[in-house]
Formats: sequence, structure tokens, C-alpha cells
Amino acid sequence: MYQKFDVVIVGSGGAGLMAAMQLPNASVAVLTKVYPTRSHTGAAQGGVAAALGNQEEDHWKWHMYDTVKGGDYLVDQPAAEILTREAIDAVYELEHRGLPFNRTDDGRIDQRRFGGHTRNFGEGPVRRSCYAADRTGHMILQTMYQSAIKNEVRFFNEFLVLDLLINDGQACGVVALEIKTGEIHTFHAKTILFATGGYGRAWRVTSNAFACMGDGMSIAYRRGIPLQDMEMYQFHPTGIYKVGVLLSEAARGEGAKLLNGKGEYFMERYMPVLKDLAPRDIVSRCIVQEIKDGNGVDGKDYVYLDVRHLGAKTIAEKLPDITDFARNYLGVEPITEPVPIQPTAHYAMGGIPTDVDARVVIDSQWTPLPGFYAAGEVACVSVHGANRLGTNSLVDLIVFGRRAGKHMAKFIQENDFVPLPENHEEYSREYIDHLYSSTGGESAAHIRSELQNEMIDNVFVERQDAGLRHALDQIAGLQEAYKNVQLQDKGKRFNTELMEAVELGFLLDCAEATIHGALARTESRGAHFRLDYQKRDDVNWLKHTLAYRGTKAHDVRLDYKDVILVDDPIFKPKERKY
Ligand SMILES: Cc1cc2nc3c(=O)[nH]c(=O)nc-3n(C[C@H](O)[C@H](O)[C@H](O)COP(=O)(O)OP(=O)(O)OC[C@H]3O[C@@H](n4cnc5c(N)ncnc54)[C@H](O)[C@@H]3O)c2cc1C
Repeated sequence: MYQKFDVVIVGSGGAGLMAAMQLPNASVAVLTKVYPTRSHTGAAQGGVAAALGNQEEDHWKWHMYDTVKGGDYLVDQPAAEILTREAIDAVYELEHRGLPFNRTDDGRIDQRRFGGHTRNFGEGPVRRSCYAADRTGHMILQTMYQSAIKNEVRFFNEFLVLDLLINDGQACGVVALEIKTGEIHTFHAKTILFATGGYGRAWRVTSNAFACMGDGMSIAYRRGIPLQDMEMYQFHPTGIYKVGVLLSEAARGEGAKLLNGKGEYFMERYMPVLKDLAPRDIVSRCIVQEIKDGNGVDGKDYVYLDVRHLGAKTIAEKLPDITDFARNYLGVEPITEPVPIQPTAHYAMGGIPTDVDARVVIDSQWTPLPGFYAAGEVACVSVHGANRLGTNSLVDLIVFGRRAGKHMAKFIQENDFVPLPENHEEYSREYIDHLYSSTGGESAAHIRSELQNEMIDNVFVERQDAGLRHALDQIAGLQEAYKNVQLQDKGKRFNTELMEAVELGFLLDCAEATIHGALARTESRGAHFRLDYQKRDDVNWLKHTLAYRGTKAHDVRLDYKDVILVDDPIFKPKERKY
């Protein structure tokens, strides 16, 4: 089927919906492979950062400083300035749309502490995270989905986008599979936004929902668009042991502490000022170090998150959902027992490169691909650099989702539809037909679990040359095996096996780009820690990687782009001390 809209938005998480909200006079379609309110944004627990200063003095510039420093200076600083300045207004926009934030006694938005957020350029923790209990993302999604319905945005739920259409050097549509019927649809548009989220499912232990398969990144990559800084992947320190489900940093913001097998609150030893609220990359590495030193619980590969001293009342009021996770997944009662945790794959700092208006840029010279935008976790602006601070993703979604929407509103005024390329459905139809007809005997589920194990073994908190090379070989083998994936279910309607096979292809591409970047970057910076190159190297590596899919199989070409700094000594790259 053929459909035509001014704007097509792929993804109905926070970024996609915030963009949709900015286009009142356009015909807007939102395509999503899951029901809109099931997008991963709904799982965000902790909050959204903005220097409102409702609880204590705060300034956007302090927030910018924390963002730049937290990102280990790989942040493009003008973008971080926009993020932190516009955060304040964007949070008020959410409030005005009806988001039920927790309140201070005098009725303003309440704020709490979060890792790496400080007052006065690093002096000590500050209350900056605006929150709705421990279900902030859920509230964002519900509020914005209702607004979108009110604004008559057209939703195409359970449509899996397979391809981006480009003609005459301009993006002009997408091709999607309708999961309910198995039919292929073309959406012709003046402008397209990818807001498809991250790819945490590439690791066995992850906080990410099943849908986080890297779709948008891979689709762009296959169309010749580079992926930026893919080696910068964040491992959140506190995932539920073995399962990976997140116990939000909000817990530590409220005072929870990490405890090792010897009963020591060990973060005090590593980080005397910020302690348990040091940035995530640092806390994850400290946990790994404790485990290596034999201080895991019972000598195993986990430590505890301890909330017992917060008391039943605070736990019930401020951390209801995450304590329920501990009860449900582990049978542990957090009021009386510490909760087993380990680092979990959490967030992609890298992604599709964009400028500050969310326009996708395709090379180191910042050349835009007209009509194509990306925002949210799929995009790399880059405001998170080498490590994202807690609560800085939700704010990225609303600030850059909003900028994307506003810029697209202008773009559709100034530009006409570009005709679709010839045979525009051919690639997608061949891809799907191949999966239906293959008799190669390989199982997608098996390949996926091999990939996830390899990524945990060799592309995790600590990396080194030999492990990365091993991972690269393995992924190349898995890419070959992928060509022979065979479906058991040949049906058309709700063929989830088909969907998972398509998604696995996306995930393999993201893993490939990640490993290439990690291997090339011979330094340690933020979340990318190399045992064989333990120091940050600003002389050679104060730059972004751009991974282009090569012309031959498994061949990736890397290019580089300078990090943009502002002319202010406070933001000059220096050693990251907390
Ligand atoms: C457990 C957890 C807790 C978190 N807590 C916080 C927090 O407290 N604060 C914070 O700032 N950040 C937090 N984060 C990070 C943050 O929630 C995410 O980075 C963010 O929500 C991503 O939003 P998004 O709009 O980019 O994409 P998502 O919300 O992931 O949505 C992606 C959308 O794209 C659609 N999609 C994907 N592929 C396709 C396709 N091929 N075809 C059609 N549709 C497609 C999906 O259906 C979905 O609608 C958390 C993350 C997790 C996993």
C-alpha cells in the first residue's frame, strides 16, 4: 500500500512524540513497531535533568559543565549548551502538557540528586533531576501520547520499518512491514525522522526492552550513512543480577549504597566526594574491580545495592517500582535484604550523527542529508560524548525531539515532495522473501544468543585488543550464518519469528560498528575502557569516530570528526577527577 504524509516519524518514544507535537499544521504519521506506550522510554525510572533550581541554587552552565566532564570531553560543547539551556523550558512544556511531577511543599516540581550532577562546577551533588516517583518515562509517554492523539497525529502501530528511501540526494520515504498482515507499505514523505532508540539487546545482560535492536542505526548504515562513536556504549552499574533489569540510579540518589561481599561500602574508598553518585562508567569499573579483587558476594560476579537504611516509608514513596523488581525477579525483600546487582548494558552514546537541529549529517564536513532527521537514543548530537549522565537522556529526547520537529516544520514549508526512487520496495521485498524461502537451517535465536554472549565476554566494561579481535571474527561468522537463517513459521499474520529475524540483522550491524570503533580507539575514555591503553589520549583521540559500512562483507571504513569545543577555559579538556 502507498501512503503520503508531509512528515513520517519512525518511533513513538519520547523523542518521536516530542517531535510530533511541534507540527500542528502538517500531516504527520508516526510508525512504531510496538504499541506507542510500550516504547522503551516508558521504562525510564529516575528522572529528567534540568537546572530549575527548585530545591537549591542551580544553573544551566553547571549542568553543561557536568555533561561535558561526565562525557569525558568527547561532548560537542555547543550542543551541550543547547541541551542544558533549553532543558528548563522543555521540562516546563511537559508540565504544561499535564505531566504529574512529584512536587515540593510549595507546589513546584521536586528535584533529586543523580550521579555526576554537581553544583558550582563540581563542588558537590545538586538536586537537578525532575521526577514522577520512579516512573518518569512512563509519565512522559502517557502525557505525550495523549497530546499527540489530541493533535490528530496518525499512528501506524506495529509497523516494522525496513528501509529508508533516498532519491536525488534527499530522503523521501520509508518502507515498512505491517506486522498484523505481513504486507509491505510505502510511506512517501517530505521529511523523515528516525527516533528508533538504542540497541542494548546486543548484550546478554541488558536493561533494555526487547524492541531495542538498533533498527534505525542499521537502516541508515545500510544506506551509506555513517554511525558515530559506536564504541561509546554505557554499562549501568546496577542491573539485577543475571537478568539485567535496571535498578535506577534514583535509588543511589535517595541514598542507597553499594556493598561488597566483605560488607564494605566500597565506593567511599574509590570516590571520596561523590561516592556512590560518581558517573556510571566509573561506578561500573569499580564494581568490576571489586569482583576481580575477590570482593564479590561469595566470590561470585556480583555485589549488593543496599537500600535498607532508607526505611520502608521512603522506599514505598520514592522507589516503589524498582523495589518491586527486586521482589519479583529475585525474591529479595529490599527493606530487609541487600539486592544482588551487576553492570548491565544500558545506553548508546553513539548513533546516527546529527547537527543541533537533528538534521542527519553524513560526513566529517557536516554535510546534511536533506529531509532526514534523527533524535533520541538513535542519534549522536553529541551531547553525551563518551559517557551519559543519568537523567540526561530524557532531556536529550525532549530538547532535540522538539528541535527536530520545529526544523521539520520549516523544511516542509520550503521544500516539495521528491519522487520516490524506481523499484523502491525491491530491497525490502527481496529481504523478506529471502527469509521466507531460505532453507539454510540456521536459527535466529541461536545466532542472537551467540552474539549476546560474545559482546558480554569481549565488548563489555573492560576491553582489549585480543578480545575485540575475537569478537570481530565471531560477528563476521555470525553475519555469514545470518544469511542462512531459516524460519519455522511461514505465516504472514503476526509472524514474530520473521520480525525477530529482521531485527537480528539490525543488531549484527550495530555490533559490527561498535567493535570496529572500539578496536580503533586505542585509549580509555568514558565508558570505553581498554586494559591495554588505560589513559585518555587527547593528542590523538579528541575526536569522534564515523563508521561507514564497507563495500565488501564485514569491511568497515572509519573516518574521524573533530570534537567541537567552546571558547571558555572552564570547559577545556582536563583530567576527570571527582
Ligand atoms: C530501564 C531504563 C531506564 C532508564 N531510565 C532513564 C532515566 O531515568 N532518565 C533518563 O534520562 N534516561 C533513562 N533511560 C534512557 C532513556 O529512557 C532512553 O534512552 C530513551 O527513552 C530512548 O528514547 P527514544 O525516544 O530515543 O526511543 P525509545 O523510547 O526506545 O522508542 C523507540 C521507538 O522506535 C520504534 N521503533 C524502533 N525500531 C523500529 C522499526 N524498525 N520500525 C518501526 N518502529 C521502530 C519503537 O517501536 C519505539 O516506539 C533509561 C533506559 C532504560 C532502558
